[in-house]
Amino acid sequence: MTSRTTEPERVRQLEADLDRVQDRIDDAERELRLLKTTVNAIAPKSAKVSMGNPCPRCDRSYLLFDHGLLYCPVCPYRLVL
Ligand SMILES: [Zn+2]
Repeated sequence: MTSRTTEPERVRQLEADLDRVQDRIDDAERELRLLKTTVNAIAPKSAKVSMGNPCPRCDRSYLLFDHGLLYCPVCPYRLVL
């Protein structure tokens, strides 16, 4: 026995799926905006640390720059500048 969905039902399902995906994207973008704002506000006060590009080795964090050293807080990537 197979269940068949009609075209309008499929369209409604796809629209509902799209709404859920859009909500998740909106939540992720909001979270990212909050985190970036918080990090940029904390970094200058806590140390002479600034945030760089995403880590080219692991891509799990932005690189940090501190006293001539560019490093990743997650993996062993280090670069002396
Ligand atoms: Zn890394």
